[in-house]
Amino acid sequence: TVDTVDADCLFCKIVAGEVPATVVHRDDTTVAFRDIKPQAPTHVLIVPTAHIPDVATLAAADPELLADLFTTAAEVAKAEGIAEGGYRTLFNTGRDAGQTVFHAHLHLLGGTWLGALAG
Ligand code: 5GP
Ligand code: ZN
Repeated sequence: TVDTVDADCLFCKIVAGEVPATVVHRDDTTVAFRDIKPQAPTHVLIVPTAHIPDVATLAAADPELLADLFTTAAEVAKAEGIAEGGYRTLFNTGRDAGQTVFHAHLHLLGGTWLGALAG
């Protein structure tokens, strides 16, 4: 799965530095950058550097890389000062979830009361 690139993919271009973004973390396997349309005071997207279309494909192909995304999310949450107050991490998968960019990305949201997801 590693080193896969899709020339037409927006997030591959951000990973490559070909499209500007506010990058807050970068390592060998993950990149984190601020969402262009933040839905919370902190809204960061964490992506694998490799082009993988969605989290289901990612989980099947490379579970360790999936874990890396959550490790990066926890590190970014600390750096953003939202680790103690709490935060939400989520993946949208496919049409009905509203996935619009088909390069897997973990949303990290926090910095305010986000509301309960259920109940
Ligand atoms: P999805 O609905 O696919 O889970 O979320 C895609 C996210 O990417 C959205 O929250 C959207 O605001 C964000 N996004 C779309 N285009 C860009 C862009 O060019 N730069 C950045 N930083 N975020 C983007
Ligand atoms: Zn991509």
